[in-house]
Amino acid sequence: MEQCSRCKTTEKPLFRLKITGRLICPSCFIKYYEKKVKNTVLKYGMLKDVRKLALAVSGGKDSLALARVFLEAFPKIKFTIIHLNLGIPNYSDECQGVVERFCRENSIELILYDLKNRNGYSIYDFVDGPFSKRLCGVCGIVKRYLMNKIAFENGFDTLATGHNLDDTVEVLFNLYINGRIDEVARIRPVLSSVNPRIVKKIKPLIEMTDEEDLYYVISRKIDYASSECPLVKGSRMIKRKKLILKIEEEIPHFKYLLLKTHIKRFLPILEEYVPPPSLRECEKCGMPSVDLICSFCKLSSRIERLVESN
Ligand code: AMP
Ligand code: ZN
Repeated sequence: MEQCSRCKTTEKPLFRLKITGRLICPSCFIKYYEKKVKNTVLKYGMLKDVRKLALAVSGGKDSLALARVFLEAFPKIKFTIIHLNLGIPNYSDECQGVVERFCRENSIELILYDLKNRNGYSIYDFVDGPFSKRLCGVCGIVKRYLMNKIAFENGFDTLATGHNLDDTVEVLFNLYINGRIDEVARIRPVLSSVNPRIVKKIKPLIEMTDEEDLYYVISRKIDYASSECPLVKGSRMIKRKKLILKIEEEIPHFKYLLLKTHIKRFLPILEEYVPPPSLRECEKCGMPSVDLICSFCKLSSRIERLVESN
């Protein structure tokens, strides 16, 4: 008879974790998951010297798992949630609703930023036209810029995101095969601040898989936006994630090994040879930028013109 490998209960549901191959019941899984995240946070000193912490929560399974695990594993650490409404029809409102409810039920302060209201355009405005082939990249630029700016302007010194092992390995895979060394050097569990206007970023779920995050929200009965972003369908990012899962079937622990090798073997070398980017103030917004105008402002002015002309 099938039973939990830890407490031996035969009660259903039981999850079979790909990472261990063993069956586990929800209550044993919750303990396993929270302990593993806590160990990651402590191992990389993610909460060292934190004064004011914000969590970027999208409403998807990963970042809601992150918020809940912080409430459970670090009950003394107060945090605020930042949510961006990206203006993707139906999907973004569902995400916002889920985040608002989570904050209300857990008495967590929420900073809500509505892209369309604040900037006059939404991610949906990029669907047709010159950016249609690289929507995920565009959305990434907007999210990274705004999350940092909101955190900075509200006095936060640390911003936690829900990037997990699958996300990180997919990004690493892409950056390595394209030889984007500067960006490879920035993929790390803790990204320290290199400028007073750049907030430190931490990734407490960097060792957790998509599957583990999913089982955690199911076990903890957390309401999350289960629909996938409609704009991501068929994207190269999804294709790469699927390919990596196939590799993992043939090479057990491939994802974790790649991450570990990256952190332990490559990052120390990259740190020595890849200097941190030299930054100046963006002429438009004043935020740190490599070029005269930052990539967010470049993108914004192009899309503003497109929206106006329609
Ligand atoms: P993604 O880039 O969609 O894979 O998301 C990576 C992480 O960025 C999530 O786990 C969240 O922490 C954060 N994030 C993504 N989208 C949003 C959003 N709309 N609002 C707040 N945080 C977000
Ligand atoms: Zn700018």
